[in-house]
Amino acid sequence: MVEPVLQIDNLVKSFGALRATDGITLDLKPGEIHALIGPNGAGKSTLIHQICGTLRQDSGTIRLAGEDIGALSAAARARRGLGRTFQVSSLAPEFSALRNVMLAVQARQGSSFGFFRPVMRDRSLIDPAMAILERVGLSDRARLPAAELSHGERRQLEIAMALALQSKALLLDEPMAGMGPEGSKRLTGFLDTLRQEAPILLVEHDMDAVFALADRISVLVYGRIIATGTVEDIRRDPAVRTAYLGD
Ligand code: ADP
Ligand code: MG
Repeated sequence: MVEPVLQIDNLVKSFGALRATDGITLDLKPGEIHALIGPNGAGKSTLIHQICGTLRQDSGTIRLAGEDIGALSAAARARRGLGRTFQVSSLAPEFSALRNVMLAVQARQGSSFGFFRPVMRDRSLIDPAMAILERVGLSDRARLPAAELSHGERRQLEIAMALALQSKALLLDEPMAGMGPEGSKRLTGFLDTLRQEAPILLVEHDMDAVFALADRISVLVYGRIIATGTVEDIRRDPAVRTAYLGD
């Protein structure tokens, strides 16, 4: 059996009396896109926050490449290779796309994001950063300030930064949100190739994208996974159709 890159077991998070995640177990295998779907309020974002460490779980374990990371800070988890799309506010909007990625490359090399040595002429940062921008299809945007990129391009830039941090696994919470059909299509194509570099846990409401991309789908309802399976399994599952797909 293939070792999962990410393995989470029995994660629980309560907000007062509400169990937002109520014993969630799932894994992410090399090369796969595992989609997590479910109605609003199901606990999808809470789960992503627990995995990346911005929310501490009440109980349960999180393993990345075999290592238990559940007690580490979010920053330490990122350094171990847990990538997620940054909130837009985490991009430096006045800096070029290239510079944003260079800062991520620099962070990977050991300096913190906040420490600005004169990086703009440093080939050891420029070359890998340009290669990554090319990889995500943004090389012609490299010199534009992040603020001037389209919504979809900013998402691509966030993913570029996760790649610059050499993530072993990517957590994407609704990357298609706020995108038009063109942007969603482009991002879908991009994510399709990205899985080769790092498997992706994809929270997404855009079912066209989910059905096009997912190797497996898990359905989350009221903090619990009610089904996990292939696209065909999930489309056929009567409990899923009732609880979520709405027919
Ligand atoms: P989803 O991403 O699936 O829409 P969330 O994980 O955002 O769902 O929310 C799950 C449940 O937890 C919701 O009922 C939400 O209101 C609640 N919740 C989320 N974050 C908090 C918080 N910080 N404090 C209290 N309740 C929260
Ligand atoms: Mg959410």
